[in-house]
Amino acid sequence: MNIRSKIHLCLTVSFLLISIVINTSIYFLFYSITTNDKLNHVRLQAENIAAVLKPVSNERYIHDILNSRLPLNGMIRVVNENSHAIITVTEDEQLTNFKPAFTNSQKVELKSMNGIQYAVSNLPIIWHNGNIMMIEVTASLASSYESLKILKLVLTVALLIVLIPSYLAGRMLSNIMLKPINSMIETMEEIQRKSIFKKLELKSQSKDELYKLGSTFNKMMDILAKNFEKQQQFVSDASHELKTPLTVIESNASMLKRWGMKDPALLEESVDAIYSEAVRMQEMTKQMLMLANHDAEWNLDIKKVDFVSLSKETSKLMKNAYGQHISVYSPFDRVLGNADRQKMKQLLFILLDNALKYSTSPIELNVGYEENDVFFTVKDYGIGIPKEDIAHIFDRFYRVDKARNRETGGTGLGLSIAKQIVDSHGGSIKVVSKEGEGTEFTVMLPI
Ligand code: ATP
Ligand code: MG
Repeated sequence: MNIRSKIHLCLTVSFLLISIVINTSIYFLFYSITTNDKLNHVRLQAENIAAVLKPVSNERYIHDILNSRLPLNGMIRVVNENSHAIITVTEDEQLTNFKPAFTNSQKVELKSMNGIQYAVSNLPIIWHNGNIMMIEVTASLASSYESLKILKLVLTVALLIVLIPSYLAGRMLSNIMLKPINSMIETMEEIQRKSIFKKLELKSQSKDELYKLGSTFNKMMDILAKNFEKQQQFVSDASHELKTPLTVIESNASMLKRWGMKDPALLEESVDAIYSEAVRMQEMTKQMLMLANHDAEWNLDIKKVDFVSLSKETSKLMKNAYGQHISVYSPFDRVLGNADRQKMKQLLFILLDNALKYSTSPIELNVGYEENDVFFTVKDYGIGIPKEDIAHIFDRFYRVDKARNRETGGTGLGLSIAKQIVDSHGGSIKVVSKEGEGTEFTVMLPI
Protein backbone atom coordinates (compact mmCIF):
# COMPACT_ATOMS: atom_id res chain seq x y z
CA MET A 1 0.00 0.00 0.00
CA ASN A 2 1.50 3.39 -0.89
CA ILE A 3 1.69 6.32 1.53
CA ARG A 4 -1.12 8.10 -0.25
CA SER A 5 -3.58 5.26 0.31
CA LYS A 6 -2.36 4.88 3.90
CA ILE A 7 -2.96 8.55 4.71
CA HIS A 8 -6.29 8.40 2.94
CA LEU A 9 -7.40 5.28 4.80
CA CYS A 10 -6.21 6.60 8.17
CA LEU A 11 -8.07 9.89 7.75
CA THR A 12 -11.29 8.26 6.60
CA VAL A 13 -11.26 5.60 9.32
CA SER A 14 -10.50 8.10 12.08
CA PHE A 15 -13.23 10.41 10.82
CA LEU A 16 -15.65 7.48 10.76
CA LEU A 17 -14.73 6.44 14.31
CA ILE A 18 -15.11 10.00 15.64
CA SER A 19 -18.52 10.32 13.94
CA ILE A 20 -19.67 6.97 15.35
CA VAL A 21 -18.63 7.97 18.87
CA ILE A 22 -20.38 11.36 18.59
CA ASN A 23 -23.57 9.88 17.11
CA THR A 24 -23.74 7.11 19.69
CA SER A 25 -23.26 9.62 22.50
CA ILE A 26 -26.06 11.80 21.09
CA TYR A 27 -28.35 8.78 20.86
CA PHE A 28 -27.74 7.63 24.42
CA LEU A 29 -28.09 11.15 25.77
CA PHE A 30 -31.52 11.43 24.17
CA TYR A 31 -32.43 7.95 25.37
CA SER A 32 -31.59 8.82 28.97
CA ILE A 33 -33.42 12.19 28.79
CA THR A 34 -36.56 10.53 27.36
CA THR A 35 -36.58 7.73 29.93
CA ASN A 36 -36.04 10.09 32.89
CA ASP A 37 -38.78 12.30 31.55
CA LYS A 38 -41.23 9.41 31.46
CA LEU A 39 -40.27 8.19 34.94
CA ASN A 40 -40.81 11.71 36.27
CA HIS A 41 -44.12 11.89 34.50
CA VAL A 42 -45.52 8.67 36.05
CA ARG A 43 -44.28 9.72 39.48
CA LEU A 44 -46.11 13.07 39.21
CA GLN A 45 -49.21 11.32 37.90
CA ALA A 46 -49.25 8.91 40.87
CA GLU A 47 -48.93 11.89 43.26
CA ASN A 48 -51.72 13.71 41.45
CA ILE A 49 -54.05 10.69 41.61
CA ALA A 50 -53.31 10.25 45.31
CA ALA A 51 -54.21 13.89 45.97
CA VAL A 52 -57.45 13.65 44.00
CA LEU A 53 -58.54 10.33 45.59
CA LYS A 54 -57.90 11.44 49.21
CA PRO A 55 -61.35 12.92 49.95
CA VAL A 56 -63.26 10.38 47.73
CA SER A 57 -64.93 7.25 49.14
CA ASN A 58 -67.44 6.36 46.38
CA GLU A 59 -66.10 3.31 44.44
CA ARG A 60 -67.76 4.34 41.17
CA TYR A 61 -66.38 7.81 41.45
CA ILE A 62 -62.91 6.37 42.16
CA HIS A 63 -63.18 4.28 38.98
CA ASP A 64 -64.15 7.35 36.96
CA ILE A 65 -61.20 9.35 38.32
CA LEU A 66 -58.75 6.52 37.55
CA ASN A 67 -60.20 6.07 34.05
CA SER A 68 -59.88 9.77 33.33
CA ARG A 69 -56.20 9.68 34.29
CA LEU A 70 -55.29 6.42 32.52
CA PRO A 71 -52.11 6.91 30.45
CA LEU A 72 -52.16 5.80 26.78
CA ASN A 73 -51.29 2.06 26.58
CA GLY A 74 -50.92 2.17 30.37
CA MET A 75 -52.52 0.90 33.56
CA ILE A 76 -53.48 2.21 37.01
CA ARG A 77 -53.95 -0.20 39.94
CA VAL A 78 -54.79 0.14 43.59
CA VAL A 79 -52.87 -2.57 45.49
CA ASN A 80 -53.52 -3.57 49.08
CA GLU A 81 -50.97 -4.55 51.73
CA ASN A 82 -51.19 -8.23 50.64
CA SER A 83 -50.08 -7.28 47.12
CA HIS A 84 -53.55 -7.88 45.65
CA ALA A 85 -54.86 -5.45 43.06
CA ILE A 86 -58.25 -4.34 44.40
CA ILE A 87 -58.87 -1.96 41.48
CA THR A 88 -57.31 -2.29 37.98
CA VAL A 89 -57.96 0.18 35.17
CA THR A 90 -56.38 -0.58 31.75
CA GLU A 91 -57.12 -0.95 28.08
CA ASP A 92 -54.29 -3.44 27.60
CA GLU A 93 -55.06 -6.67 29.48
CA GLN A 94 -51.50 -7.93 28.99
CA LEU A 95 -50.27 -5.36 31.50
CA THR A 96 -52.02 -7.24 34.28
CA ASN A 97 -49.29 -9.86 33.85
CA PHE A 98 -47.04 -7.53 35.83
CA LYS A 99 -47.34 -8.99 39.33
CA PRO A 100 -48.53 -6.34 41.81
CA ALA A 101 -46.07 -5.89 44.71
CA PHE A 102 -46.91 -3.65 47.64
CA THR A 103 -44.24 -1.23 48.87
CA ASN A 104 -44.63 1.23 51.70
CA SER A 105 -42.33 3.82 50.17
CA GLN A 106 -42.52 5.83 46.95
CA LYS A 107 -40.63 4.19 44.06
CA VAL A 108 -40.21 4.58 40.29
CA GLU A 109 -38.69 1.91 38.02
CA LEU A 110 -38.46 0.56 34.47
CA LYS A 111 -40.02 -2.79 33.58
CA SER A 112 -40.22 -4.51 30.25
CA MET A 113 -42.54 -6.97 28.55
CA ASN A 114 -42.37 -8.33 24.98
CA GLY A 115 -39.56 -5.94 24.13
CA ILE A 116 -41.52 -2.87 25.23
CA GLN A 117 -40.38 -0.79 28.19
CA TYR A 118 -42.71 0.64 30.81
CA ALA A 119 -42.22 3.29 33.45
CA VAL A 120 -43.83 2.21 36.74
CA SER A 121 -44.46 4.44 39.76
CA ASN A 122 -45.61 3.19 43.19
CA LEU A 123 -46.98 5.51 45.89
CA PRO A 124 -48.51 4.41 49.22
CA ILE A 125 -51.64 6.31 50.36
CA ILE A 126 -54.17 6.09 53.20
CA TRP A 127 -57.42 4.73 51.76
CA HIS A 128 -60.80 6.18 52.78
CA ASN A 129 -61.40 3.15 55.10
CA GLY A 130 -58.14 3.90 56.92
CA ASN A 131 -56.09 1.05 55.35
CA ILE A 132 -52.80 1.63 53.64
CA MET A 133 -52.98 1.07 49.87
CA MET A 134 -50.56 1.65 47.02
CA ILE A 135 -51.32 3.53 43.82
CA GLU A 136 -49.41 1.99 40.88
CA VAL A 137 -49.22 3.91 37.58
CA THR A 138 -47.75 2.12 34.54
CA ALA A 139 -47.05 3.99 31.29
CA SER A 140 -45.63 2.60 28.06
CA LEU A 141 -42.44 4.09 26.63
CA ALA A 142 -43.25 2.79 23.12
CA SER A 143 -44.28 6.16 21.69
CA SER A 144 -41.17 7.90 23.07
CA TYR A 145 -39.00 5.16 21.63
CA GLU A 146 -40.61 5.72 18.26
CA SER A 147 -38.98 9.15 18.10
CA LEU A 148 -35.68 7.61 19.30
CA LYS A 149 -35.90 5.20 16.37
CA ILE A 150 -36.28 8.15 14.00
CA LEU A 151 -33.29 9.83 15.68
CA LYS A 152 -31.25 6.65 15.18
CA LEU A 153 -32.14 6.61 11.50
CA VAL A 154 -31.28 10.30 11.07
CA LEU A 155 -27.92 9.85 12.80
CA THR A 156 -27.05 6.82 10.65
CA VAL A 157 -27.92 8.64 7.44
CA ALA A 158 -25.96 11.71 8.62
CA LEU A 159 -22.97 9.45 9.32
CA LEU A 160 -23.07 8.05 5.80
CA ILE A 161 -23.47 11.51 4.26
CA VAL A 162 -20.57 12.91 6.32
CA LEU A 163 -18.41 10.01 5.16
CA ILE A 164 -18.42 11.27 1.55
CA PRO A 165 -16.82 14.70 2.20
CA SER A 166 -14.42 13.11 4.70
CA TYR A 167 -13.38 10.60 2.04
CA LEU A 168 -12.87 13.42 -0.47
CA ALA A 169 -11.03 15.61 2.07
CA GLY A 170 -8.68 12.72 2.89
CA ARG A 171 -7.96 12.24 -0.78
CA MET A 172 -7.30 15.95 -1.26
CA LEU A 173 -5.06 16.17 1.80
CA SER A 174 -2.99 13.15 0.79
CA ASN A 175 -2.64 14.67 -2.68
CA ILE A 176 -1.49 18.03 -1.28
CA MET A 177 1.01 16.33 1.02
CA LEU A 178 2.41 13.95 -1.55
CA LYS A 179 2.66 16.27 -4.53
CA PRO A 180 6.08 17.65 -3.52
CA ILE A 181 7.29 14.15 -2.63
CA ASN A 182 6.23 12.88 -6.04
CA SER A 183 8.01 15.74 -7.76
CA MET A 184 11.13 14.91 -5.70
CA ILE A 185 10.90 11.29 -6.78
CA GLU A 186 10.60 12.38 -10.41
CA THR A 187 13.66 14.62 -10.14
CA MET A 188 15.64 11.89 -8.39
CA GLU A 189 14.69 9.40 -11.09
CA GLU A 190 15.77 11.91 -13.73
CA ILE A 191 19.10 12.34 -11.93
CA GLN A 192 19.52 8.58 -11.85
CA ARG A 193 18.58 8.17 -15.53
CA LYS A 194 20.68 10.99 -16.93
CA SER A 195 23.50 10.95 -14.33
CA ILE A 196 23.25 14.69 -13.84
CA PHE A 197 23.23 16.89 -10.75
CA LYS A 198 19.85 18.52 -10.76
CA LYS A 199 18.24 20.43 -7.91
CA LEU A 200 14.62 20.26 -6.81
CA GLU A 201 12.33 23.21 -7.30
CA LEU A 202 11.17 24.32 -3.86
CA LYS A 203 7.92 26.23 -4.20
CA SER A 204 6.55 25.93 -0.68
CA GLN A 205 6.53 29.25 1.17
CA SER A 206 6.11 27.64 4.57
CA LYS A 207 9.36 26.13 5.80
CA ASP A 208 7.75 22.78 6.58
CA GLU A 209 9.35 19.32 6.83
CA LEU A 210 8.94 18.68 3.11
CA TYR A 211 10.68 21.97 2.34
CA LYS A 212 13.51 20.94 4.69
CA LEU A 213 13.73 17.55 3.01
CA GLY A 214 13.97 19.24 -0.39
CA SER A 215 16.54 21.79 0.70
CA THR A 216 18.63 19.05 2.37
CA PHE A 217 18.50 17.09 -0.86
CA ASN A 218 19.59 20.20 -2.77
CA LYS A 219 22.47 20.80 -0.39
CA MET A 220 23.52 17.18 -0.82
CA MET A 221 23.38 17.62 -4.59
CA ASP A 222 25.57 20.73 -4.25
CA ILE A 223 28.17 18.77 -2.29
CA LEU A 224 28.08 15.90 -4.78
CA ALA A 225 28.37 18.26 -7.73
CA LYS A 226 31.24 20.12 -6.08
CA ASN A 227 33.06 16.89 -5.27
CA PHE A 228 32.49 15.61 -8.77
CA GLU A 229 33.83 18.87 -10.18
CA LYS A 230 36.85 18.69 -7.87
CA GLN A 231 37.50 15.14 -8.97
CA GLN A 232 37.23 16.10 -12.64
CA GLN A 233 39.50 19.06 -11.98
CA PHE A 234 42.01 16.84 -10.22
CA VAL A 235 42.06 14.31 -13.04
CA SER A 236 42.49 16.98 -15.71
CA ASP A 237 45.06 18.86 -13.63
CA ALA A 238 46.98 15.67 -12.97
CA SER A 239 47.02 14.60 -16.60
CA HIS A 240 47.98 18.12 -17.64
CA GLU A 241 50.80 18.29 -15.11
CA LEU A 242 52.11 14.88 -16.14
CA LYS A 243 51.97 15.82 -19.81
CA THR A 244 54.85 18.31 -19.58
CA PRO A 245 57.45 15.98 -18.02
CA LEU A 246 56.31 13.18 -20.33
CA THR A 247 56.75 15.42 -23.38
CA VAL A 248 60.21 16.45 -22.17
CA ILE A 249 61.17 12.81 -21.64
CA GLU A 250 59.73 11.76 -24.98
CA SER A 251 61.44 14.53 -26.98
CA ASN A 252 64.81 13.99 -25.28
CA ALA A 253 64.58 10.23 -25.77
CA SER A 254 63.80 10.61 -29.48
CA MET A 255 66.64 13.12 -29.81
CA LEU A 256 68.97 10.59 -28.15
CA LYS A 257 67.71 7.88 -30.48
CA ARG A 258 68.58 9.98 -33.55
CA TRP A 259 71.87 11.72 -32.69
CA GLY A 260 72.50 11.53 -28.95
CA MET A 261 74.71 8.48 -28.95
CA LYS A 262 77.29 10.20 -31.16
CA ASP A 263 77.31 13.56 -29.34
CA PRO A 264 78.48 13.18 -25.71
CA ALA A 265 77.41 16.74 -24.78
CA LEU A 266 73.88 16.18 -26.09
CA LEU A 267 73.82 12.75 -24.46
CA GLU A 268 74.57 14.18 -21.06
CA GLU A 269 72.12 17.02 -21.46
CA SER A 270 69.32 14.68 -22.56
CA VAL A 271 69.96 12.12 -19.84
CA ASP A 272 70.01 14.91 -17.25
CA ALA A 273 66.72 16.29 -18.54
CA ILE A 274 65.12 12.84 -18.60
CA TYR A 275 66.41 12.10 -15.11
CA SER A 276 65.21 15.34 -13.57
CA GLU A 277 61.77 15.07 -15.18
CA ALA A 278 61.49 11.45 -14.07
CA VAL A 279 62.35 12.49 -10.51
CA ARG A 280 59.78 15.28 -10.69
CA MET A 281 57.14 12.88 -11.94
CA GLN A 282 57.99 10.41 -9.24
CA GLU A 283 57.62 13.14 -6.62
CA MET A 284 54.38 14.32 -8.18
CA THR A 285 52.81 10.84 -8.30
CA LYS A 286 53.89 10.23 -4.73
CA GLN A 287 52.19 13.43 -3.60
CA MET A 288 49.12 12.75 -5.72
CA LEU A 289 48.78 9.29 -4.25
CA MET A 290 49.08 10.73 -0.78
CA LEU A 291 46.39 13.31 -1.50
CA ALA A 292 44.08 10.65 -2.91
CA ASN A 293 44.67 8.48 0.15
CA HIS A 294 44.08 11.41 2.45
CA ASP A 295 40.80 12.10 0.72
CA ALA A 296 39.69 8.58 1.44
CA GLU A 297 40.83 8.19 5.02
CA TRP A 298 43.04 9.77 7.61
CA ASN A 299 44.57 7.34 10.04
CA LEU A 300 46.04 9.74 12.54
CA ASP A 301 48.31 8.55 15.30
CA ILE A 302 47.54 11.24 17.86
CA LYS A 303 50.04 11.59 20.71
CA LYS A 304 51.54 14.34 22.88
CA VAL A 305 53.93 16.30 20.69
CA ASP A 306 56.47 18.90 21.79
CA PHE A 307 56.36 21.45 19.01
CA VAL A 308 59.57 23.20 20.13
CA SER A 309 61.76 20.12 19.79
CA LEU A 310 59.93 19.08 16.61
CA SER A 311 60.57 22.51 15.05
CA LYS A 312 64.24 22.45 16.02
CA GLU A 313 64.72 18.93 14.67
CA THR A 314 62.97 19.69 11.36
CA SER A 315 64.67 23.00 10.75
CA LYS A 316 68.07 21.39 11.37
CA LEU A 317 67.38 18.82 8.65
CA MET A 318 66.24 21.54 6.23
CA LYS A 319 69.19 23.80 7.10
CA ASN A 320 71.62 21.00 6.19
CA ALA A 321 69.88 20.33 2.87
CA TYR A 322 69.47 23.95 1.72
CA GLY A 323 72.33 25.63 3.56
CA GLN A 324 69.99 28.51 4.49
CA HIS A 325 69.50 29.77 8.04
CA ILE A 326 66.33 28.99 10.06
CA SER A 327 65.80 30.38 13.60
CA VAL A 328 63.34 28.79 16.02
CA TYR A 329 61.80 31.10 18.68
CA SER A 330 59.57 30.16 21.59
CA PRO A 331 58.93 31.72 25.02
CA PHE A 332 58.62 28.17 26.42
CA ASP A 333 61.02 25.24 26.66
CA ARG A 334 58.26 22.90 25.61
CA VAL A 335 54.99 23.57 23.76
CA LEU A 336 52.80 20.49 24.10
CA GLY A 337 49.81 19.59 21.96
CA ASN A 338 48.01 16.45 20.76
CA ALA A 339 48.87 15.65 17.16
CA ASP A 340 50.26 13.10 14.74
CA ARG A 341 54.04 13.70 14.96
CA GLN A 342 54.82 12.42 11.45
CA LYS A 343 52.10 14.59 9.87
CA MET A 344 53.29 17.65 11.81
CA LYS A 345 56.81 17.07 10.57
CA GLN A 346 55.50 16.84 7.01
CA LEU A 347 53.56 20.07 7.52
CA LEU A 348 56.70 21.85 8.71
CA PHE A 349 58.65 20.44 5.76
CA ILE A 350 56.10 21.83 3.30
CA LEU A 351 56.04 25.32 4.87
CA LEU A 352 59.81 25.51 5.35
CA ASP A 353 60.40 24.16 1.85
CA ASN A 354 58.32 27.00 0.40
CA ALA A 355 59.98 29.62 2.60
CA LEU A 356 63.42 28.36 1.54
CA LYS A 357 62.45 28.16 -2.13
CA TYR A 358 60.86 31.59 -2.35
CA SER A 359 63.32 33.61 -0.24
CA THR A 360 67.05 33.96 0.28
CA SER A 361 67.20 35.64 3.70
CA PRO A 362 67.00 33.75 7.05
CA ILE A 363 63.68 32.20 8.04
CA GLU A 364 61.89 32.57 11.38
CA LEU A 365 59.89 29.85 13.07
CA ASN A 366 57.78 30.88 16.12
CA VAL A 367 56.10 28.37 18.44
CA GLY A 368 53.71 29.08 21.33
CA TYR A 369 50.24 28.95 22.84
CA GLU A 370 47.24 31.13 22.11
CA GLU A 371 44.14 30.56 24.26
CA ASN A 372 43.30 26.88 23.75
CA ASP A 373 45.49 26.43 20.71
CA VAL A 374 49.08 25.61 19.92
CA PHE A 375 50.36 27.81 17.13
CA PHE A 376 53.43 28.05 14.99
CA THR A 377 54.37 30.55 12.29
CA VAL A 378 56.83 30.21 9.42
CA LYS A 379 58.00 33.63 8.30
CA ASP A 380 60.25 34.53 5.38
CA TYR A 381 61.41 37.81 3.81
CA GLY A 382 61.23 36.62 0.23
CA ILE A 383 59.30 37.39 -2.95
CA GLY A 384 55.83 37.17 -1.35
CA ILE A 385 52.54 36.19 -2.96
CA PRO A 386 50.45 38.57 -5.09
CA LYS A 387 47.11 39.53 -3.46
CA GLU A 388 44.95 37.96 -6.19
CA ASP A 389 46.71 34.58 -5.83
CA ILE A 390 46.45 34.22 -2.05
CA ALA A 391 42.94 32.73 -2.27
CA HIS A 392 44.16 29.94 -4.58
CA ILE A 393 47.50 28.83 -3.15
CA PHE A 394 45.86 25.99 -1.18
CA ASP A 395 44.30 24.56 -4.38
CA ARG A 396 45.85 21.48 -5.91
CA PHE A 397 48.51 22.21 -8.58
CA TYR A 398 48.17 25.95 -8.12
CA ARG A 399 51.38 27.85 -8.63
CA VAL A 400 51.48 31.61 -8.56
CA ASP A 401 53.53 32.27 -11.63
CA LYS A 402 54.62 29.28 -13.62
CA ALA A 403 57.68 31.19 -14.91
CA ARG A 404 59.07 32.02 -11.51
CA ASN A 405 58.37 28.51 -10.31
CA ARG A 406 59.97 26.64 -13.15
CA GLU A 407 63.42 26.95 -11.69
CA THR A 408 62.20 25.97 -8.21
CA GLY A 409 60.54 22.91 -9.73
CA GLY A 410 57.41 22.65 -7.57
CA THR A 411 54.26 20.69 -8.34
CA GLY A 412 51.80 23.01 -6.62
CA LEU A 413 50.62 20.26 -4.30
CA GLY A 414 52.55 21.22 -1.14
CA LEU A 415 50.08 23.68 0.38
CA SER A 416 47.01 21.62 -0.49
CA ILE A 417 48.57 18.72 1.43
CA ALA A 418 49.41 21.11 4.28
CA LYS A 419 45.79 22.26 4.43
CA GLN A 420 44.54 18.69 4.55
CA ILE A 421 46.89 17.86 7.41
CA VAL A 422 45.72 20.91 9.39
CA ASP A 423 42.03 20.17 8.64
CA SER A 424 42.39 16.57 9.76
CA HIS A 425 43.61 17.88 13.13
CA GLY A 426 40.68 20.28 13.43
CA GLY A 427 42.99 23.29 13.12
CA SER A 428 43.36 26.23 10.76
CA ILE A 429 46.05 27.65 8.50
CA LYS A 430 46.31 31.31 7.51
CA VAL A 431 48.66 33.32 5.38
CA VAL A 432 49.72 36.94 5.39
CA SER A 433 51.90 38.00 2.48
CA LYS A 434 53.08 41.07 0.63
CA GLU A 435 54.82 40.94 -2.72
CA GLY A 436 58.51 41.78 -2.43
CA GLU A 437 58.39 41.84 1.41
CA GLY A 438 57.72 38.32 2.54
CA THR A 439 55.21 35.73 3.67
CA GLU A 440 54.00 34.40 7.02
CA PHE A 441 52.05 31.17 7.41
CA THR A 442 50.28 30.63 10.77
CA VAL A 443 49.01 27.23 11.85
CA MET A 444 46.61 26.92 14.83
CA LEU A 445 45.91 23.51 16.35
CA PRO A 446 43.55 22.78 19.25
CA ILE A 447 45.52 21.37 22.22
P1 ATP B 1 55.39 21.80 -4.19
O1 ATP B 1 55.34 22.35 -2.82
O2 ATP B 1 54.26 20.88 -4.50
O3 ATP B 1 56.69 21.25 -4.56
P2 ATP B 1 54.89 24.54 -4.85
O4 ATP B 1 55.78 25.00 -3.77
O5 ATP B 1 54.91 25.31 -6.12
O6 ATP B 1 55.13 23.03 -5.19
P3 ATP B 1 52.77 24.94 -2.97
O7 ATP B 1 53.67 24.64 -1.85
O8 ATP B 1 51.41 24.39 -2.91
O9 ATP B 1 53.37 24.51 -4.35
O10 ATP B 1 52.61 26.48 -3.09
C1 ATP B 1 51.77 27.06 -4.06
C2 ATP B 1 52.31 28.35 -4.58
O11 ATP B 1 52.25 29.35 -3.57
C3 ATP B 1 53.76 28.27 -4.93
O12 ATP B 1 53.92 27.89 -6.27
C4 ATP B 1 54.25 29.69 -4.70
O13 ATP B 1 54.10 30.48 -5.87
C5 ATP B 1 53.34 30.21 -3.65
N1 ATP B 1 54.03 30.22 -2.34
C6 ATP B 1 53.89 29.29 -1.38
N2 ATP B 1 54.66 29.61 -0.32
C7 ATP B 1 55.30 30.76 -0.63
C8 ATP B 1 56.22 31.64 0.05
N3 ATP B 1 56.65 31.32 1.28
N4 ATP B 1 56.64 32.75 -0.60
C9 ATP B 1 56.19 33.06 -1.81
N5 ATP B 1 55.32 32.28 -2.50
C10 ATP B 1 54.87 31.17 -1.93
MG1 MG C 1 55.73 24.02 -1.90
